[in-house]
Order: sequence, then structure tokens, then C-alpha cells
Amino acid sequence: MRRGCISLGNIQCDDCHQIIPHSERYLVIEEEGGVTLRLCADCSLKRDYAHYKVEKGEQVLTFFPE
Ligand SMILES: [Zn+2]
Repeated sequence: MRRGCISLGNIQCDDCHQIIPHSERYLVIEEEGGVTLRLCADCSLKRDYAHYKVEKGEQVLTFFPE
């Protein structure tokens, strides 16, 4: 399960442990065994859970496969 969320400023990335700033996007992913991870955009990209696509000439971060 993957869910794209918007931070309210009190979310910490479970990988790099940085606070995800208010209104930044982050990913909630449920891994095998029912472990839920919250990942910032950078860590999502690093783990290949997110990628950029170009939409109307702008780069848009997406958490979902095409
Ligand atoms: Zn992170």
C-alpha cells in the first residue's frame, strides 16, 4: 500500500529522520509484515518509491508507478 500525503509539519521521515516540513509531500508505505514507513521525498526517490515525471513542462513528483 502506498499513499501520498501532505505533511502538517510534525512528520518525521523514518529513514533519514528529518522533519518533513509543513505542506511538503511524503509517502506512507506499508511493507510486508504490516510495518508502516513514512518517507520524505528524497528517501522515496532513493528507494525508487517515487519518481519525477514531466507534466505541462514542469517536473512533478509522483509516488505511483505509471
Ligand atoms: Zn528521508
